[in-house]
Amino acid sequence: MAYQREVMAAVDAVVKASRLCASVQDHLIKGQTLEKGDKSPVTVADYGAQAVVGRLLALEFPHVPMVGEENADALREPSNRAMCDKVVSLTRTVLPQVSESEVLGAIDWGTFGGGRSGRFWTLDPIDGTKGFLRLEQYAVALALVEDGEVVVGVLGCPNLPNAHGRGGVYVGVKGQGAWWRTLADDHRHPLRATVNHDPARTRITESVEAGHTDQDESALIAKLLKIGVPPLRMDSQAKYAAVASGEADIYLRLPTRKDYVERIWDHAAGFRVITEAGGRVTDIRGRALDFGHGRGLEQNQGVIATNGHVHDDVLARVAEVLGTAG
Ligand code: AMP
Ligand code: MG
Repeated sequence: MAYQREVMAAVDAVVKASRLCASVQDHLIKGQTLEKGDKSPVTVADYGAQAVVGRLLALEFPHVPMVGEENADALREPSNRAMCDKVVSLTRTVLPQVSESEVLGAIDWGTFGGGRSGRFWTLDPIDGTKGFLRLEQYAVALALVEDGEVVVGVLGCPNLPNAHGRGGVYVGVKGQGAWWRTLADDHRHPLRATVNHDPARTRITESVEAGHTDQDESALIAKLLKIGVPPLRMDSQAKYAAVASGEADIYLRLPTRKDYVERIWDHAAGFRVITEAGGRVTDIRGRALDFGHGRGLEQNQGVIATNGHVHDDVLARVAEVLGTAG
């Protein structure tokens, strides 16, 4: 079966990085309280998660580069010595033998520029940092892109509720379907989006942060679609997992600024998970997301993900409200 080794390595890396992030969040809960506005825990966990994933993948696939959200420039500055030490010791909780220069090198494994040809990984070590700090939803998001197309997507969602409690890994592989597993054991459970054809019976999921999606426009679209239930607001690509698992039917990400360019690591894994669960993903004009353009989705604006069945209805209403028809 294609991509078997890649999927094994990607899931293993995401499980390990997710546990690392969850342990940092546990310390936050246990009263190592933050100064208001202190983002250092998320920063340390962000770097630690990218170091773990970068290191494991670089060892297993030395010829496949990575487009990651972080780089180690700041950690190399003498003024950030204390932060750097924390990142190294956090990374060693997963990879005990690793040296400081190996940790920094593993983070910098993510500095690739992406592009149209060949293979690369793309990683958001902690997607939804605001949710992480609020002790809510966040995701470790990893995807494999081949000649501009996302072929494997893996989302670690340590706080997402599921039939077995809380915390899962959501996986989609091109042409092979989608499944999820808990963080604790590797049993695969199938993932299916809803087969709901009636927009009035759907539920929308969207960002908690009003700066990341236009919540007023989404309320107008919901009204036009005659949706009676309030949106499920969550941080991170956990929204893609929610649609892939049938918790929601529609994920709307409506631009709040004309000049904002979505980052590929914010959507690549979620795209493949939803697509393999039977859903569909486009931008607000119905165009396919172009993951081969570089580190950003310059060719696209916003994101619309659905169970597939209501996609055209949703696009029509989006065009009506945003004036994006044609
Ligand atoms: P979410 O948790 O879905 O609200 O999205 C978090 C992601 O939003 C972060 O990883 C950022 O990369 C991204 N982001 C930052 N600014 C904006 C913006 N103005 N519009 C859309 N996304 C943004
Ligand atoms: Mg992100």
